[in-house]
Amino acid sequence: MPRPIHATIHTESLRHNLARARQAAPDARVWAVVKANAYGHGIERAFEGLRGADGFALLDLNEAERVRALGWRGPILLLEGVFEPRDLELCSRLDLWHTVHCDEQIAMLAAHKTQVPQRVFLKMNSGMNRLGFTPQRYRAAWTRLNALPQVDEISLMTHFSDADGARGITQQLAVFNAATRDLPGERTLSNSAATLRYGEGGDGEPLHSDWVRPGIAVYGSAPDFPEHDAAHWNLQPAMTLTAKLIGTQQLAAGDTVGYGSTFTADGAMRIGIVACGYADGYPRHCSTGTPVLVNGVRTRMVGRVSMDMIMVDLTPVPDAGFGTEVTLWGRALSGAVLPIDEVAQAGGTVGYELMCALALRVPVGVE
Ligand SMILES: *Cc1c(COP(=O)(O)O)cnc(C)c1O
Repeated sequence: MPRPIHATIHTESLRHNLARARQAAPDARVWAVVKANAYGHGIERAFEGLRGADGFALLDLNEAERVRALGWRGPILLLEGVFEPRDLELCSRLDLWHTVHCDEQIAMLAAHKTQVPQRVFLKMNSGMNRLGFTPQRYRAAWTRLNALPQVDEISLMTHFSDADGARGITQQLAVFNAATRDLPGERTLSNSAATLRYGEGGDGEPLHSDWVRPGIAVYGSAPDFPEHDAAHWNLQPAMTLTAKLIGTQQLAAGDTVGYGSTFTADGAMRIGIVACGYADGYPRHCSTGTPVLVNGVRTRMVGRVSMDMIMVDLTPVPDAGFGTEVTLWGRALSGAVLPIDEVAQAGGTVGYELMCALALRVPVGVE
């Protein structure tokens, strides 16, 4: 028998979440962001649920090859553009659209020998100070690109640093709009947080653009947790991590649990030992109190996460025993949901990191 732990990717939930992004941005086309192997879900496993997107956005050229190998003929966008000159040959061969965020990429394009001009997305650094041309240098970059025979259409792009928080997008949006006012071309601005919070059904005036770029929302995690949870945005978990109890212990008052004896029982209690640890991608920074579902019933982890196991309080599930289902995040057989965002928060991180860190040793199925 393999170790009783596995993950499940929910095709219907991916479809549902993608439809939610469309609902929030009804006039825009939707890039499904599938970087980092579809946020840990697996590009091949997520594809069926996401094939209704207008395009796929990612970073790695080898991931672009995998999307083409699945038969996808529509747009693919390289969100960081090319890294070296020969990447441009692959862009030509696979018909990839690519971001241009720096002078070095323009120079590579200018030196590239191709019959077929390429579509590029010119990225502005509107305040995040990660990738992109400053507003002052943006127009000159556009003019240089526009003069290149290697370049076909130029689209305009920026990325928000605070779409999920109190600072919001107002300032960056004003910078972007002022610097691009009279430039032609399609616009792409919004990640998940901006798509949901500044879209139809969001709080403010909807922001219009030609393409939105939702990632995390498509996988069913709330981009602005804990201000809003996945249920608020009507998102469904696209990944479930399930294991089983492989043992139980009866504790008396004063007994401790696990490495470092960080948990001490107040009185008599039963705990279950779960076949999931940090080597499976469960965050080691989670500690006593982290929510977990046993047989669909919410309870808590106790003690430290170890490499291959965690321990859980069985007080609310007295019938649980060897072989009982444990849901680390996602959907239990009963239909009960444990949002990945709550587990992430307990571990001092975000749902993104947990999805992406699902370990290779965990077998993954699709339903
Ligand atoms: C990752 C990424 C996104 C998607 O972000 P989410 O927060 O997951 O929606 C959008 N745009 C760019 C440029 C990205 O790198």
